[in-house]
Amino acid sequence: MRQTRLAEAWQTRMAHFPPEIEFYFPEKTAVISLTGTHCELDCAHCGGHYLRGMMPIWQANIAGATSCLISGGCDSSGRVLVLEQLEKVKSLHAGRHFNWHVGLIAEEDLRAITPYTDVVSFDFVADDETIREVYGLDRTVEDYINTYLLLRRATRVIPHITIGLRGGEIGGEYHALTLLQELGLEELVVIVFIPTPGTRYSHRQPPLIEAVTDLMIEARLSFPDKPIYLGCMRPHGAYRVELDCLAIRCGLNKIVSPCREAIQLAEELGLRTVRREECCVF
Ligand code: SF4
Repeated sequence: MRQTRLAEAWQTRMAHFPPEIEFYFPEKTAVISLTGTHCELDCAHCGGHYLRGMMPIWQANIAGATSCLISGGCDSSGRVLVLEQLEKVKSLHAGRHFNWHVGLIAEEDLRAITPYTDVVSFDFVADDETIREVYGLDRTVEDYINTYLLLRRATRVIPHITIGLRGGEIGGEYHALTLLQELGLEELVVIVFIPTPGTRYSHRQPPLIEAVTDLMIEARLSFPDKPIYLGCMRPHGAYRVELDCLAIRCGLNKIVSPCREAIQLAEELGLRTVRREECCVF
């Protein structure tokens, strides 16, 4: 059954896109945190861990970068503190593309950053229980829908679906695909839950690779002519080797930091490979 669906996904891809795949090695995108390591949420899957790998904006040295990912910690209502250091952000913008993480942004904050925004990466969550358990937020799927629509009116926005966000379990991911079909999208990024040391989910497992494959197939078939990317956040090691190869077979269009085996497979399958050096949304 899965093999049949996989073949269907591949045929769908080949019917709607040229035989080409883009591999992203985002060395030219500077990853900046507006709040350093500060975050009020302490989410179950992150716990502020990923902020530690970003450049605090007050120390940002981005010579050589052609684009920036502007991220940062959240306040207690799930908004990334986008207005922190806005003057500094403006001073970095000339000649560069900006991709923002904004969380559940308020309309006035969005208005203030829109002139410096080329694209927004928005984590789209479609399950109330997951929102509560992972983020500890008293917000609902309705809030995510409304924020997504607000963003779409203002700028280019690319929803990210984290497969297995709820500690490795599949929760609202299929519902997210259904909602996005209704709401509309231009492109989609899928990423995969990583059990991260020091977080509440550190002892969990990534979702079963079969479950991730089924989700990627569903995404491809739900959006036959929309580009779908496998983003940078996903487990490493043997899991990644298997995942990256399956992403190609599911007909995804871009992969960030792919493993060697996936590049080889793409060539064997007759895809022309293109190398890029920024975030996958640029
Ligand atoms: S998933 Fe793509 S857009 Fe999002 S941070 Fe990673 S490379 Fe950038």
